[in-house]
Amino acid sequence: MHEMSIAINIIDLATDFAQKENAHVIERIQLDVGTLSGVLIDSLSFCFDAASKNTIVENAELVINAIPAKGNCTDCNNHFDVEQWPSPCPQCGGYFITVSSGKELKVKSITIN
Ligand SMILES: [Zn+2]
Repeated sequence: MHEMSIAINIIDLATDFAQKENAHVIERIQLDVGTLSGVLIDSLSFCFDAASKNTIVENAELVINAIPAKGNCTDCNNHFDVEQWPSPCPQCGGYFITVSSGKELKVKSITIN
């Protein structure tokens, strides 16, 4: 499962960070996940709960910020919100769209104590 390997990576990253900083508790992990990243947020949070059992990350709160997708039409230079992908430019109907955000998948912050 895609989300499970992502969850394990996040837990590894947080664990390494906590060890380096001599922290004993990880309070919160914040993620930025783009709506076009291909990651299912519900599934990721379920996998995170399952994979963090009996680790230092177990009681950490996972905060997932969904980053909305934005597109840029290369024909008419229109910027717009992308509801689903692929979709045409709402202004000119063109399909030459570059995605300027919405593919993020990154750990934004880890709060330790
Ligand atoms: Zn356009």
